[in-house]
Amino acid sequence: MGSIPTASTIALYMRRFKIGILTVTVALLVGVPSAPAQEINESLEFRFAGSSVMVPRFGAKVELLPVLQLLGAEAAFSPAAGTYGVKYQDRLIQFSPGRRYVLIDETLEEFEEVPVASPGGVAASLRYLDRVLLSPLGYHLEAAYGGYQIMTGARYADPVEVRAAAADFGATTTLVLTLNRSTPAEVSSAGVESAVVHFDDASPHLDETIPLRSRRAKRMTTQGQDLILELNDGIGVVSWHTLDDPPRVIVELGAVRPTPTPAPERFRPRTRVAEPPIVIDPGHGGDDIGAVSSAGTMEKDLMLQVALRLETILEGRGHAVRLTRSGDNARALTDRTALANRLEAEVFVSLHANASHVGSVRGAETYYMSLEGSATDDAAAAMAELENQGSDEGSVRSPLDLILWDLAQADVLNDSADLALAVQRRLNNRLGLRDRGVKQAPFVVLTGATMPAVLIEVGFLSNADEAGKLTTPEHQQRVAEAIALGVEDFLGSQ
Ligand SMILES: [Zn+2]
Repeated sequence: MGSIPTASTIALYMRRFKIGILTVTVALLVGVPSAPAQEINESLEFRFAGSSVMVPRFGAKVELLPVLQLLGAEAAFSPAAGTYGVKYQDRLIQFSPGRRYVLIDETLEEFEEVPVASPGGVAASLRYLDRVLLSPLGYHLEAAYGGYQIMTGARYADPVEVRAAAADFGATTTLVLTLNRSTPAEVSSAGVESAVVHFDDASPHLDETIPLRSRRAKRMTTQGQDLILELNDGIGVVSWHTLDDPPRVIVELGAVRPTPTPAPERFRPRTRVAEPPIVIDPGHGGDDIGAVSSAGTMEKDLMLQVALRLETILEGRGHAVRLTRSGDNARALTDRTALANRLEAEVFVSLHANASHVGSVRGAETYYMSLEGSATDDAAAAMAELENQGSDEGSVRSPLDLILWDLAQADVLNDSADLALAVQRRLNNRLGLRDRGVKQAPFVVLTGATMPAVLIEVGFLSNADEAGKLTTPEHQQRVAEAIALGVEDFLGSQ
């Protein structure tokens, strides 16, 4: 295993450099979107604790470093990682031009907006500055006197008033949440007996003058940007949609099996309301078909079948389970772990089938994450290259790119290794195969996962005999059972 950059390496950068000295090395960031210089049209004044600074502005974006400097935060660019680190009191925020992900202390978060490289280092919108950088440090922006004042206190989203009414029918209850203004909302159910309505841009305020009366909904509470529904036994979200004029969120409640409901496409829970799930990732999907056997069996289809069996087994044993796809959908590799991170998953299991140019090679292998260049062997490196081909960011990331995302796995790498061992042991037992062992390779699909994560190659589609077996329900069930037992062995040992 190569050396993993640690928080102390970053801290070293911080001690060495302060902003101002470091209007540097932006040229290193090849391919990063940047703010064209000719767009500098004006400056904005930022004020904090009796000081002020004029900050260049490019259309909707402002230079970020002068604002952080005004606050007294240390901000340093790490050329090796392509990452800015912002240190303020005991907080550390890391972000990169061109990336949606931000590491706030140990937590990896995802934002829609991507900061851009700029003449002063890095620029982003006022909203990004406010929500991503200032709020975690305990400040927010307020417009004042033709500029902005940095105020104490994190940003709370503007309130939205919510009036709830419920109508019980025979088998279902329709819950109508009427909003006093239009704002994006998403409903998710992380298990029975609870559901979350999340507002992307607003904090819900409940009108409690009208009590909620329903056979299926117990009560509602608010927490930050979430409205939390407590439901009666065996009740969950059957469906939801939104309506305009007036803006409403309509939630249908009904009896659901004691597992999480299938999530809508835009599922994005921010609040944990139930046991953390096991996230199963059926490899490939959509146009990305993965490996193909000589008989035309596609990896993407096989892996979905195994994943659904694994889901059923684990749920039957009392675990909460989520799939990264439940149909033949395309998914960017990084979105798969992003989902697991958002759900605060207990473990992440990515399912794949192998291919080799040697037709006789067979058996199952379990991988966990490594830095590029430290794959266990050449075959493992070749496999990683193959599986990384669906990546939205090129076939294999550069070592520079990998560093930030490895920070996420670094903390749990030993656990990932234990999980891989536990799964591989059960696969060997159950399938009676020669041990192909646990290996490390730089799989993009595992990078950025903040929980123990493994990639399992359940067999070789390039082996006609093994490919044939993999299409049978009996063999798929054996594979799924082995993986389920391995995951349970690991969870039991924690
Ligand atoms: Zn694959």
